[in-house]
Amino acid sequence: MKLILLGAPGAGKGTVAKILTKSTGAVQISTGDILRGAVAAGNELGKKAQDFMTRGDLVPDDLIMDIMEARLQEPDCEKGFLLDGFPRTIPQAGALKVLLDKIGVTLDKAVNIDVPRDVILDRLSTRRTCNNSDCQEIYNVKSNPPKEEGKCDKCGSPVVQRDDETEEAISHRLETYNDKTAPLIGFYEKEGICLTVNATSSDDVINAINNSIN
Ligand code: ADP
Repeated sequence: MKLILLGAPGAGKGTVAKILTKSTGAVQISTGDILRGAVAAGNELGKKAQDFMTRGDLVPDDLIMDIMEARLQEPDCEKGFLLDGFPRTIPQAGALKVLLDKIGVTLDKAVNIDVPRDVILDRLSTRRTCNNSDCQEIYNVKSNPPKEEGKCDKCGSPVVQRDDETEEAISHRLETYNDKTAPLIGFYEKEGICLTVNATSSDDVINAINNSIN
């Protein structure tokens, strides 16, 4: 299974990717997770990305393409991959098309997870994330809190609100999504591989994906 997961921040791309990883063996590739890992490690990539991320701005396309060119050619991608948060701009989508042609890989679908704005806003303000960069498990204070407050069920690290999940950064990320990323829906419609799913439950999204691929 080779999918792109499109959708606003908070649409559930990561949740859907995690479920499909377990059922299909495909790897989840989240540029957001990779970048947060780099920021936590304080490496070159992290230093370059940090300020953009805290503001809720996109990281420059050339940095992202360097990461993805290497990542998509790692052997674990042969079983399939779920791209979560990439591509995010038309230039990234164009560069991905060239890259996939070069390495002889065909995408199954670009899945557009379409969730109403009020649901998104509520989810993002109540989302909490494990701050261990190797874990990054996601919680929600209302619907899915950790068993022990503020502590990750999986690894015991602190569960925190992300720097870019302040009200200001959230509204900026949603604006950025509408300006820069939403146009990808038209791009993949033209490519003939766009699947739009109007669903707030991850089970409904998974069913729609399975029905469209099998
Ligand atoms: P969300 O989907 O909740 O917005 P992500 O974890 O996908 O969060 O991304 C967090 C931040 O990382 C983004 O706001 C942006 O700064 C950066 N980022 C992630 N993926 C990309 C990408 N493909 N292109 C540019 N910036 C990205």
